[in-house]
Amino acid sequence: MLKKTKWLIKEAKLRAGYMVYKDCIFCKIAGGEIKSDFLANTANVVALFDINPVANVHILIVPKKHIESVSTIKLTDGADLVEMFDVADKIAKEKKLSEYRLSFNAGRFQHVAHLHMHLLAGSKIQWGK
Ligand code: 5GP
Ligand code: ZN
Repeated sequence: MLKKTKWLIKEAKLRAGYMVYKDCIFCKIAGGEIKSDFLANTANVVALFDINPVANVHILIVPKKHIESVSTIKLTDGADLVEMFDVADKIAKEKKLSEYRLSFNAGRFQHVAHLHMHLLAGSKIQWGK
């Protein structure tokens, strides 16, 4: 009985993970299902140019793990977050960006429900309302 319960839990987790992967564009990008040119691809993070830039330089830094938003971050996500900031720092140095912004959108400002950091530089940000 215990064996069966364990199997059912494992199966449910797999299915839940699969659903997330199936439905989430950034899971598909980070998982390689959608081919993308990455500026960085580390153990837990990818970075790529935003498809619809709102500044001269607009890069997305995305954890490979599906974290929904800033409001669902857990203590166990700490290493992923540190890696996101580390990748941002490396890209900024590589691109010799002396001034830039790192931002997270939330609520109605967030359009993709998979945590991502925007690295913005080079001009005024032209985000709509
Ligand atoms: P949010 O509004 O959720 O903070 O930002 C989502 C960002 O993802 C937007 O700036 C949007 O242009 C970008 N984006 C959405 N879909 C794709 C995609 O398929 N590829 C890339 N590179 N960026 C995307
Ligand atoms: Zn996702």
